[in-house]
Amino acid sequence: MKRSITILGATGSIGLNTLDVVRRHPQRFSVHALTASTSVESLAELCREFLPRFAVMSNPDSAKALSLALSDCPHIKVLSGKEGLCDVAGDPESDTVMAAIVGAAGLPPTLSAVRAGKRVLLANKEALVMSGRLFMDAVAESGAELLPIDSEHNAIFQCMPADKIRDTRGAGITRILLTASGGPFRTFSAESLRSVLPEQACSHPNWSMGQKISVDSATLMNKGLELIEACWLFNTTPDFVEVHVHPESIIHSMVEYADGSVLAQLGSPDMRTPIANGLAWPERIDAGVAPLDLFQIGKFHFERPDTERFPCLRLAAEAYQQGGTAPAVLNAANEEAVAAFLDGKLCFADIAVIIERTLEQVEVVPAESFDVIFSKDAEARIIAREQIALLSAIQD
Ligand code: NDP
Ligand code: MG
Repeated sequence: MKRSITILGATGSIGLNTLDVVRRHPQRFSVHALTASTSVESLAELCREFLPRFAVMSNPDSAKALSLALSDCPHIKVLSGKEGLCDVAGDPESDTVMAAIVGAAGLPPTLSAVRAGKRVLLANKEALVMSGRLFMDAVAESGAELLPIDSEHNAIFQCMPADKIRDTRGAGITRILLTASGGPFRTFSAESLRSVLPEQACSHPNWSMGQKISVDSATLMNKGLELIEACWLFNTTPDFVEVHVHPESIIHSMVEYADGSVLAQLGSPDMRTPIANGLAWPERIDAGVAPLDLFQIGKFHFERPDTERFPCLRLAAEAYQQGGTAPAVLNAANEEAVAAFLDGKLCFADIAVIIERTLEQVEVVPAESFDVIFSKDAEARIIAREQIALLSAIQD
């Protein structure tokens, strides 16, 4: 049976890689809906190629522009706003949703797909970090099939027995070894981290990704978010997950068993591998990925992460331990700080300062409902922006 796929964030790095895999298998996959925020031309072009039933722009003006651009394609219905995103994500006509919007904006439509009981391919880690238990409860309630697309979590998933991914101890697993590239500034001194530029932060040594996750990789916040993501996906705790910096990015993560075995998933650093794994699971399909040449790679290296130079990893682990709304606050403050850094308004090393100050100022409460999460997200953004303005006033 053909899978009918909706891609949230189709114009982004994950979205385009997903469409590249889909393009290779026209007999297996059809495209039900594509969404973007403001990239009208790019979404119009994708619509002409993949002929979805729906195209959604979260930005209403962009939706009008897309309607105009597709006026000769009457079979494609253009929707707009958060409602449009949630409608297509939960539409019973499609069975699989790729959640690849960046940041907190992805939570409502991803949740809509979860509640509709779909196969949800989760790239949008921020959605899970923000709402952890509530998100996983929604998955359990609806029977949605949640498959990890983040390369590390997909690797861990591949190294576990499929029926025991939420029962690691029952599976005889003793540790998860979460690998990290270390980012472009792995070897930089604390002093030189103050003057790095957005262009440097966005040029990752091994992966080609969107701007926000590239900066997260450079601060190690990405690993912090992934630590939290692993705890929720695999029903475990941070003490069970050990971060290993592995600059080659060939081992995508490992799982250690009680008998001393360590299973690893290796591959070229190319997101089409985990995407194809999620799309076709439990089958394997061609993803267009270059075969691994271990002779050329030659050596693997491992280091402990340095949380002195990269405090974001520590802040994320602490927020998870604190629980309640703390991870949502961490995530919101990080999104604001990263946006300010990309905008030239904050220095790289101050991203962590903003997050720490915001966590100190926003009261943590139990994460009882999604409304509580969204209101803490909004509160944290106000505080983070105030702190960013304060810091830039001091520096001017
Ligand atoms: P990109 O920035 O490349 O793409 C983001 C996508 O989301 C675009 O389609 C963008 O549309 C859309 N979008 C942005 N803001 C909004 C909004 N407010 N409302 C609705 N849609 C929006 O990001 P990536 O593809 O790199 O990352 C996507 C997610 O996947 C992130 O959560 C990231 O952490 C995760 N991920 C990414 C990996 C990668 O290799 N890139 C690896 C592992 C996880 P538009 O083009 O119009 O702006
Ligand atoms: Mg990752």
